[in-house]
Order: sequence, then structure tokens, then C-alpha cells
Amino acid sequence: MALLRGNLHAHTTFSDGVLPPEGLIAEYETLGYDFLAITDHDDLITEGYWETLGKLAPRLLLFSGVELSWAEFPQHVGRVKGDRETLHVLNHPARYRLSVRDTLARIRRIGAQGVNLDAIEVTDTGLYRPVYDSSEIPLAKVATDDAHQPVHFGRAWIEVDAPRGRDAIIRAIRAGDFRLGFRQGNLTL
Ligand SMILES: [Zn+2]
Repeated sequence: MALLRGNLHAHTTFSDGVLPPEGLIAEYETLGYDFLAITDHDDLITEGYWETLGKLAPRLLLFSGVELSWAEFPQHVGRVKGDRETLHVLNHPARYRLSVRDTLARIRRIGAQGVNLDAIEVTDTGLYRPVYDSSEIPLAKVATDDAHQPVHFGRAWIEVDAPRGRDAIIRAIRAGDFRLGFRQGNLTL
């Protein structure tokens, strides 16, 4: 089975990204991606967001999603919707300078409030942050580029061993059937 290359975290003009959904999708199609999740900020999205995403029919496999701003503490949580499955990601812990211990406490706290995290970003806007690529953290370790503007597009991604379907991709991520990819020169420590 061919590996599917994709990005789980990206923004459009529905929040603070510079391209509308069609423009962003075109960029990732040009880069040869198989799938893309659009995850605009829940506190910025304007009316028509979900409807607009739902009507798009691009060549790549599109996931609708949202980036939640956690109310209790400064933390973004990615929600990527499949057809029946939903993937939840602890986004860019590096941005909050969390230790592994803090990260584990935060994962438990978010779980206690009803969101069971599946994955954690080991990147911050596409730059590798290996402290979170730790076996102590019991989540799938994903790389994303958190696309807002062109410099971010295609910095980091995952390659998933799954059939081409949204739910199959989410299940494969949960199972750890993927590898990380980084654009050359962007594996900055
Ligand atoms: Zn983001």
C-alpha cells in the first residue's frame, strides 16, 4: 500500500490564515499531498465555515476540523473530523514550554473534561520539537506545519499507511501506522 502524505493542521481566511480554503488546498495539491485537514480557530471562524468546507470537492482528501482554544488554560486542541471517527490532537506543546510532566498532567486534565486525546504534535509550526517525541507520552506523535502563511506550507507532515479514506487514516494514526516527514533544512532542533 502506498503511504498517504498529509497535514492535519492548517488555517484559512476563515480565521488567521492568508489563503481561502480553495487556495490552500491548491497549494497542498501542488505539493503532492494526499490529504489535508483545515482546522481554523473555533473563536475566530465566521458563519458558513462548516458549510463551505463541506461543499468543497478537491482532488486531495479533505478533512473538516477546528482548533479549539481550551478554556481552562492556554492550550490549543485540534479536532479533525472523519466520517464517523474524530481525531483529537494536543497542539504545539512547545509553544507553552511544557515539560513532559506538565504535558502528561494536561492530557489527563483535558481527558477529565471529556476530550480523550489521540495524538500530540512534536512540531511547532512545522519545526521539530523532539522533547515531545517521548515514549513517556502515551499518544501518537504527529508532525504538522500549522499552515498560516506560505513559509509554513509543507514544512512537516505525516505519511500514513492506510487506505484512502478519512476514517481509515484516523484509525491508522491512532494505531501508530505512520511516519514523520520534514522538508529538508527544516529539521531544526
Ligand atoms: Zn493552528
